[in-house]
Amino acid sequence: MTGLVVIGASYAGIQSALAAREAGYADDITVVCDETWLPYQRPPLSKDFLLGVTTEDHLVLRNEAFFKKERIDLVLGHRATEIDPAAKRIRLDDGATLDFDKLVLATGSRARRIAVPGADLDGVCYLRSVADALDLKARLARASEVVIVGGGFIGLEVASSAAKLGKKVAVVESVMRLLERAVCPLVSGFLHTTHLKAGVDVRMGESVVAMEGNNGRVAAVTLASGTKLPADLVLVGIGGIANDDLARAAGLKCTNGVVVDEYGRTEHPDIYAAGDCANHYNRFADGWIRLESVQNAQDQAKAAGFAIAGRHGPYDTVPWFWSDQYDAKLQIVGLSARHDRMVVRGTEDEGRFSVFMYRGENLIAADSINRPGDQLACRRLITAGVSPTPEEAADPSFDLKSLVKTIGKASTPRGNS
Ligand SMILES: Cc1cc2nc3c(=O)[nH]c(=O)nc-3n(C[C@H](O)[C@H](O)[C@H](O)COP(=O)(O)OP(=O)(O)OC[C@H]3O[C@@H](n4cnc5c(N)ncnc54)[C@H](O)[C@@H]3O)c2cc1C
Repeated sequence: MTGLVVIGASYAGIQSALAAREAGYADDITVVCDETWLPYQRPPLSKDFLLGVTTEDHLVLRNEAFFKKERIDLVLGHRATEIDPAAKRIRLDDGATLDFDKLVLATGSRARRIAVPGADLDGVCYLRSVADALDLKARLARASEVVIVGGGFIGLEVASSAAKLGKKVAVVESVMRLLERAVCPLVSGFLHTTHLKAGVDVRMGESVVAMEGNNGRVAAVTLASGTKLPADLVLVGIGGIANDDLARAAGLKCTNGVVVDEYGRTEHPDIYAAGDCANHYNRFADGWIRLESVQNAQDQAKAAGFAIAGRHGPYDTVPWFWSDQYDAKLQIVGLSARHDRMVVRGTEDEGRFSVFMYRGENLIAADSINRPGDQLACRRLITAGVSPTPEEAADPSFDLKSLVKTIGKASTPRGNS
């Protein structure tokens, strides 16, 4: 068999296959994945799925009939173990081989493991897959004291779900603010307060040094300060690691992920990578970056799928992301690391505000709590390099949509010149 082979059947894998088809790729397409489930949505796993609002049936992205219609063969429950770039062949865990004309690596990322004594006790969990989520959900139903290690997105979303389910929850974070690398201090503070109000015990500047057990089951988490937090369930959410091992072993360039260009191409002319496993130059970051988001996985994979079919359009989307915790819908657009000024639109007290972040005169990012309209406008504005003045952004009566309407019309761009 030749044609397009994709490793990984999640957002990036499926999108690359569909984009190739959409752009006219007529040859065989085979998508291999080590998970046995039909491709599914991951974001609800830490949110509605744990709460029982969504079941596994509703997570499915596309059904079997859809893949049949698109002539995409799914090979589920099999892991790719080797890539031979010279022979253009991959090997699966059962010894079978697949030849390819084009290959997409969409292997995603995995949860970083915690290396402390007791980390392998029963009840110490991670959350990446639907299998993890089913296990976590069953354990949550029986648990009473839950400790979350890591105040990142997955940790805080699980904390929110567990608190909503009436569990006693503690969050342990080693730095001094939640989501430090992802959101501005105001939003960190707002979410911190929201968790405290929900009764969550938030421990900042604390690190876990050991897990204590009782008959092989986790019973407590010991912090560097000497504090022991009782726990019958521990969820570790301390970040993700790119699944770039296959690519590394095949001699492809990897630096915190498989290095790709704006079309998702690796150094090998017929091998592409996209999504959580890929590292790319991003103009909005002004540097190389590996993103873990649905937006990045889908948009980057689309560029790769199109390029495979001969339609070249670079991946150039402003990064955006969302997270749901309690009644707060957090949305982020742009990459704020280089900002030197911020202004607030709306009020924190009402739980509806956006923080607009600037570098010089240029709007580069916005974090919003329950203000989706600001996010939609900012996606367009940041992409086009059009900035409201900080005074306009801070004035809730200033119509951002009217500024969006000027995009493409103005002879002299405002900001980002
Ligand atoms: C609990 C949770 C909540 C999230 N919430 C949000 C959110 O609210 N918003 C947001 O934007 N993003 C969220 N994300 C992140 C988002 O889900 C990921 O960025 C996205 O799934 C990345 O897609 P991907 O296709 O690159 O990789 P993945 O979704 O990681 O899929 C990669 C697939 O490849 C398989 N695979 C890996 N190696 C091999 C191999 N050698 N052979 C065969 N198969 C292999 C993996 O098992 C997996 O099925 C969340 C993630 C998790 C885990």
